[in-house]
Amino acid sequence: MKIIMLGAPGAGKGTQAKKIAEKYEIPHISTGDIFRANIKNNTELGKKAKAYMDQGLLVPDELTLELIMDRFEQPDCKNGYVLDGFPRTIPQAEALTKALSENSEKIDFAVNVEVPDESIVERMSGRRACLNCGGTYHIIFNPSKKEGICDKCSSELVLREDDKPETVSKRLKVYHDQTQPLIDYYRGQNVLREVDGTKEVSEVFDGIINILEA
Ligand code: ADP
Ligand code: AMP
Repeated sequence: MKIIMLGAPGAGKGTQAKKIAEKYEIPHISTGDIFRANIKNNTELGKKAKAYMDQGLLVPDELTLELIMDRFEQPDCKNGYVLDGFPRTIPQAEALTKALSENSEKIDFAVNVEVPDESIVERMSGRRACLNCGGTYHIIFNPSKKEGICDKCSSELVLREDDKPETVSKRLKVYHDQTQPLIDYYRGQNVLREVDGTKEVSEVFDGIINILEA
């Protein structure tokens, strides 16, 4: 099964993608996580990506596509994947469609997690991220067992640089300008499904399972 998670930054794509990946035993591929791992390891890609990410801008398509196409070559992708944060522009979506169609493959579902902009700032200012394993928490809605420490790998949790309120409004603008058009793109491919992302994490997940198993 090949699934794309759509939605604004902070809508809960990563939270749900992790649960989907676990249930269906497919990899969760987050371009944001891959960029952050590169930044942490101080790679050339990380240095280039950081300049854009810190400003709330998208990393250029060329860099992003190179990275994701490499990831698709990994053997764990053979039974599908859940994509989180990719594609984020129409050219990225078109490149994905083209790459898949060359192997007579296609996306099965593009799940749009709908959350109004008003809730996003609250979600993102409370988000705490583990830069080691990609774990995501929220100080109120989904706290870690021990404050500031990742449940899974015991690393320190951080407020991401780009989750600070001044960057969040920029990221929302970028989302509306460049990523929201993907909703119509995938509607046109008859794979778009929508869930109400304002509900509790477990209820959103139930909604997604209903969609995937309909
Ligand atoms: P995205 O991957 O779309 O940027 P995340 O999955 O990281 O978003 O979620 C953003 C923040 O909101 C995180 O702190 C997460 O714990 C929290 N969150 C996710 N889903 C919900 C939900 N349904 N209700 C409340 N908070 C949520
Ligand atoms: P995320 O973790 O999905 O919120 O992504 C964090 C940041 O990484 C984004 O604000 C972008 O700067 C960058 N990024 C992640 N995925 C992409 C993508 N598909 N295209 C361009 N930039 C991306």
